[in-house]
Amino acid sequence: MTQEKWGLLRNKLLKAIGKNNYTTWIEPLEFQELQDGVAVFSVPTNFMGNYVSQNFADLILYEMNTAGEKVQRLAFRVAANSSARPKAEAESEPKVVRDAPVVTKMESANGAFESLQAAPLDSRFTFDSFVVGKPNELAHAAARRVSEGGPVTFNPLVLYGGVGLGKTHLMHAIAWELKTKHPELNVLYLSAEQFMYRFVQALRERRMMDFKHLFRSVDVLMVDDVQFIAGKDSTQEEFFHTFNALVDQNKQIIISADRAPGEIKDLEDRVKSRLQCGLVVDLHPTDYELRLGILQNKVQQYSSTYPDLTIADGVLEFLAHRISTNVRVLEGALTRLFAFASLVGREIDMELTQDCLADVLRASERKITVEEIQRKVSDYYNIRLSDIIGPKRLRSYARPRQVAMYLCKRLTSRSLPEIGRRFGGRDHTTVMHGVKRIEELKTTDGQIAEDVEMLRRALEA
Ligand code: ADP
Ligand code: MG
Repeated sequence: MTQEKWGLLRNKLLKAIGKNNYTTWIEPLEFQELQDGVAVFSVPTNFMGNYVSQNFADLILYEMNTAGEKVQRLAFRVAANSSARPKAEAESEPKVVRDAPVVTKMESANGAFESLQAAPLDSRFTFDSFVVGKPNELAHAAARRVSEGGPVTFNPLVLYGGVGLGKTHLMHAIAWELKTKHPELNVLYLSAEQFMYRFVQALRERRMMDFKHLFRSVDVLMVDDVQFIAGKDSTQEEFFHTFNALVDQNKQIIISADRAPGEIKDLEDRVKSRLQCGLVVDLHPTDYELRLGILQNKVQQYSSTYPDLTIADGVLEFLAHRISTNVRVLEGALTRLFAFASLVGREIDMELTQDCLADVLRASERKITVEEIQRKVSDYYNIRLSDIIGPKRLRSYARPRQVAMYLCKRLTSRSLPEIGRRFGGRDHTTVMHGVKRIEELKTTDGQIAEDVEMLRRALEA
């Protein structure tokens, strides 16, 4: 690949990831060479290479391959003479930040060695670094069980859940664990996309026998993001046969998907029902406690890389509270904070956080609506929505109504008159009275305090 070509690719990346990300992460990359399918870049810091590799590698690979370059992976080397390099790394040798994918050698049908390149396992994705909370405890327990490598009890294990909730992390953790405890097992992890790619390649090169043999000789097969093959008929068919062959041999299969198998559109019924035969567990959206736990855990990991950095009280809580979309975004935010703080040599306080993460914070701003509050509160107290809004003055309606008004005042930017209007056209003084009343009760009545807290959390989750 020429420098010119990289220049053109950079424009594509700019379009794809936006100016901010581009300037921070892509611009400083210097393309060095492309050799044996590895594109080598020099980066100003180790940290930066890691960040790009974690967040943009897929995209960069995709763009390169689309542009006709045959690139299997990226490597980042810390430039020896970069000015942007923080002190701590200045003395060390240029390092390869991420290298060496996992390659499993297997004998193919015709006796020759076929190398089956599994997707590289991310060394950070282990059980040790996985924070367990209510939303993911079941998935974690199931993953742990499978990672013991004992007799196959549920097959397949299907982990499903939204983006960035830890599916890939858990799968890699299982693979690492199995590789350590049972090195004799042939463990293959790959994405459904890679499965398809290999399948298509085998078809093209008329090597279907090899393909079948390879996939049928693994002991543990993990296919990530299986929703990808929906609508791709011949890949689904091959997947189905591979799946059956392995289940027949009592080999463990682990699958992930972004939704429940039954809900994946354009996935053949027979594939769906196969997936549903095993243990299907979902990863729920994170709650505040889990997010905070993940952040604390991350900070601990960073503390060896950035021993001098400190975080002001309240910053992690703020992030856990404000960034509730997905863990990847949360981690990205923290990574950026650390990078930024270490470059400018400042403590991570609220001001720096707001500055550095303005775009992320804006994007994840979630507006809680009056309707949502009314609905949650009526559910919580087991009364009808119309009773919260309606005119009845019974205590069993009046109190929840006041709680709802209080939450509207605290969690939305609506004015008192506006809130009054949404509560059946009540006067703003009524709303004010309600808000005051709950404020008082919160200090004297433990039950009310708890109710309000529970509701607030549920609304902000
Ligand atoms: P998914 O595959 O579900 O989209 P990933 O497994 O790629 O999500 O997770 C996204 C990021 O969030 C990863 O960096 C992962 O390490 C991190 N992550 C998600 N859940 C947890 C958790 N419970 N503990 C620690 N890190 C987590
Ligand atoms: Mg994933």
